[in-house]
Amino acid sequence: MSPTRTCIGCGARSPQGALVRLALRDGRVVLDPARRQPGRGAYLCGVSCARKALSRRAFGKAFRGASTAEASLLEQVQQLLGASAA
Ligand SMILES: [Zn+2]
Repeated sequence: MSPTRTCIGCGARSPQGALVRLALRDGRVVLDPARRQPGRGAYLCGVSCARKALSRRAFGKAFRGASTAEASLLEQVQQLLGASAA
């Protein structure tokens, strides 16, 4: 049984392995494809959810206001998920 996590973009719950993990490093939100960054994580299930999360400033909420999420994060999510992403 893999644990489920909530996508910060759409609020849907999915198995952890199906989501992209984000972590906080030096006050910035970064992708954590290897899931090895320590501390709080946030999860996204796709590029469209990354877009939603950015526009709604959901990252600040997920990381308790300590974070800076940049538009480049969206490109990184797109690269990671490739053409298969919604
Ligand atoms: Zn989602």
